[in-house]
Amino acid sequence: VKLHILGCHAATPRSTTNPTAQVLESRNQLFLIDCGEGTQVQLRRHKLKFSRIDHIFISHLHGDHFFGLPGLLATFRLMGREKDLHLFGPEGIKEAITIILRLGEAETGYTIHFHELKGSDSECILDSEKISVHTIPLDHRIYTNGFLFRQKPKLLNLKIEVIEQYGIDTAQFLNIKRGSDARLKDGKVIPNSELTLPPPKQKSYAFCSDTAYNDRILPFIKEVDTLYHDATFLESESHLTAITKHATAREAATLAREAKVERLILGHFSSRYKDLHAFLEESRPIFSQTFLAEDGAVFEW
Ligand SMILES: [Zn+2]
Ligand SMILES: [Zn+2]
Repeated sequence: VKLHILGCHAATPRSTTNPTAQVLESRNQLFLIDCGEGTQVQLRRHKLKFSRIDHIFISHLHGDHFFGLPGLLATFRLMGREKDLHLFGPEGIKEAITIILRLGEAETGYTIHFHELKGSDSECILDSEKISVHTIPLDHRIYTNGFLFRQKPKLLNLKIEVIEQYGIDTAQFLNIKRGSDARLKDGKVIPNSELTLPPPKQKSYAFCSDTAYNDRILPFIKEVDTLYHDATFLESESHLTAITKHATAREAATLAREAKVERLILGHFSSRYKDLHAFLEESRPIFSQTFLAEDGAVFEW
């Protein structure tokens, strides 16, 4: 799994920073998460092919997470896209996108499947052979969802030496990898457990922005490999979290520790801070495996 941070700063685009957008790369699929202004430029900088994006997830309709989307959809059209696109986002996103594209006479030649979200409980919104995606209800000024990506278990690994000893023919391999027992020519059955090893651990990623600190999300993020969490403020501005419904670096670290995640990525930094190192200084004493989501950063696990 690779996570490309295309942008991670709060509010407005600036000469050196971009608002929120990320691409999660898992088993040859690209998932675009949020689409702030500048996302197209960042995709090109990162050499991430537009044509490989078939799923886009929008957490909420604040501009710093969403204003890059109409432009990207129009570019897909200019590039001659024909493949379907799945778009997940809050209720209203279909109306917003449709009006913008219609007024510009830029209706798409490809089909956009709008999956509008309005539930207040977590729900499974994508379930394929390779991956599942669940919403994580967040606590923000407007309706907002985080997203939990979890790879599906891979097939079992064959113990080739044992398979060869028994002389099991290749026609049975796929079924054995799926968990079936093997049958020898004389009718003898060899149990699957003798022939296979467990598959590698399936990887997971939880995206949680924008949100105030809220431990209701703990069950959803429990023991994920990587948690990205809102860290708009340092402790010196913690009085602002209640009104703005954002979190501090320390709050994000506390959640990461409670949820026993493997690593924490902080993002959505307020533009008032020039030196982001202070975010690590405040969070690492609570949770040591904390990293900064600087624009252009790539995380791999
Ligand atoms: Zn935001
Ligand atoms: Zn917001």
